[in-house]
Amino acid sequence: MAAGCIFCQIIAGETATEFIYQDEQVVVFKDINPKAPVHVLVMPKEHINSLNELGPEHNQLAGTLLTTIVKVAQQLGIKESGYKTIINTGREGGQLIDHLHIHVLGGKKVSGFAI
Ligand code: 5GP
Ligand code: ZN
Repeated sequence: MAAGCIFCQIIAGETATEFIYQDEQVVVFKDINPKAPVHVLVMPKEHINSLNELGPEHNQLAGTLLTTIVKVAQQLGIKESGYKTIINTGREGGQLIDHLHIHVLGGKKVSGFAI
């Protein structure tokens, strides 16, 4: 757990946040400021600052993050209709929270926009 990281605090259960899905490695919860009818964040429980900190030692975790997206898309009823996945990296990439996370957006046409 990284000191001062809001997502680590959520993962540690320090705030009242409902988990859509979780296992030993990953957790999924709703974005507090949704940009689409479905807007969830998929992330590792381990604190990793951003995509830039991923190395070969994270290959298994990276795969699990991707398959978790599909699992959760199915669970939330947007697998067939479609959805957008976004990873913001660094300041110019639009990353506000420095704990690696993947936005999953759906439930309406979400082509052509960024977060
Ligand atoms: P970023 O810009 O880093 O890719 O996205 C951070 C996302 O985290 C934003 O979409 C923002 O709405 C969301 N967020 C920020 N603080 C919280 C929080 O305390 N709880 C939840 N559920 N989402 C948050
Ligand atoms: Zn963190």
